[in-house]
Amino acid sequence: MNDIIARADRALQHDLCDHCLGRLFAQVESGTTNKERGRNVRIAVALERGARGEELPPHETCWLCEDLFENLSRFADIAINKLSEIEYDTFLIGTKVDPVLQDREEKLWSEVGGEKAEPIKAELNREIGKLVEAAVRKEVDFRNPDVVALIDTRFGHVTLNIAPLFIYGRYRKYSREIPQTRWPCRACRGKGCKRCDGTGKMYQISVQEIIGEPVMEAAEGKDHFFHGMGREDIDARMLGTGRPFVLEIAEPRKRHLDLAEMERLANENGKELADFSKLRWSDRSEVRQIKADTPDKVYLAEIRLQDKVNKERINEVVTSLIQARITQQTPTRVAHRRADRARERTIRDLAIESLEGDKLVLRLKTESGTYIKEFVSGDGGRTVPSLAGLIRVPCQVTALDVIQIVDNSNEG
Ligand SMILES: [Zn+2]
Ligand SMILES: [Zn+2]
Repeated sequence: MNDIIARADRALQHDLCDHCLGRLFAQVESGTTNKERGRNVRIAVALERGARGEELPPHETCWLCEDLFENLSRFADIAINKLSEIEYDTFLIGTKVDPVLQDREEKLWSEVGGEKAEPIKAELNREIGKLVEAAVRKEVDFRNPDVVALIDTRFGHVTLNIAPLFIYGRYRKYSREIPQTRWPCRACRGKGCKRCDGTGKMYQISVQEIIGEPVMEAAEGKDHFFHGMGREDIDARMLGTGRPFVLEIAEPRKRHLDLAEMERLANENGKELADFSKLRWSDRSEVRQIKADTPDKVYLAEIRLQDKVNKERINEVVTSLIQARITQQTPTRVAHRRADRARERTIRDLAIESLEGDKLVLRLKTESGTYIKEFVSGDGGRTVPSLAGLIRVPCQVTALDVIQIVDNSNEG
């Protein structure tokens, strides 16, 4: 008597269905179903017992699964029904199985050996998946499905786990009064209070909301998240070819969006505040990439000099600062939310755009993370060297524009 039949014989001390019997030997041979395999093994065991003058009792109710597999098409139907509520191209079936059944399965493995066995969930997922796949004519995707239909086999209901949408784009911000991302009220954390006039927000609108709201609405999503390649100060404009970002829409019920139309809607919504370009589909790995990228930036800084300085002196200083390494202690204005530490940054390039009276306009290209306002003012000696420190005249940035993000993208 070979090992498989001996083990099957022992397993059949319990009343098992063909699925649960066949699953014990799922990895012995491929190319057939557990049900088929179970049927063959059962016949072999019956013959074996017959030779011993014993009888194999007829199968009534499966001790392990309580005949759960008779419900495969019912489970498939409720999944198909639920999936019909949303747009998707790929899917995956998942199941929740009564822990009592799983305990019985483990008990059986400990009795007869489970090295070549397959867990009950794996068979349920696959067999229901096959039925759904044939009915909906969409593909099962094990790695990155648009939606996972999770079937609770105890209660026969389905929950959908819908993958988010990721949309890449570049934005420009023309307003000096709106932040990049949604900014909940500090006092009430978004619930609404006196301080925020019941809105729950510090700022009524943001770049994120300008594009996120219409796209979320079109996608019938639940929420939106904005992943920018860095961010500018609220009072700085973001010009040039814009700043790369990925917009994430959570739980979209629609995913066949027309991105040209989304771009149009967002731009209409942005009016004078912000605009968007280069929209295309993206994914989570690009979010990581965008968050990790540290591109150089080019700025135009309008600076007010508090005293007269002659042009030659400024020229000299500006020239001396090209390729300068500067040390910046965390700026006073952000010290309340960032750790106080010193960091070094490089001023890659620096040039005078114009100088009229007390108004100087500088063009700067700097390493990612350089604090421009502090590089100009010196921040009370916390940034060294600084423009103010070297010309020996106090000065401040009165207006700041990012005019280029020097990222690796070749679309800008
Ligand atoms: Zn069974
Ligand atoms: Zn509030």
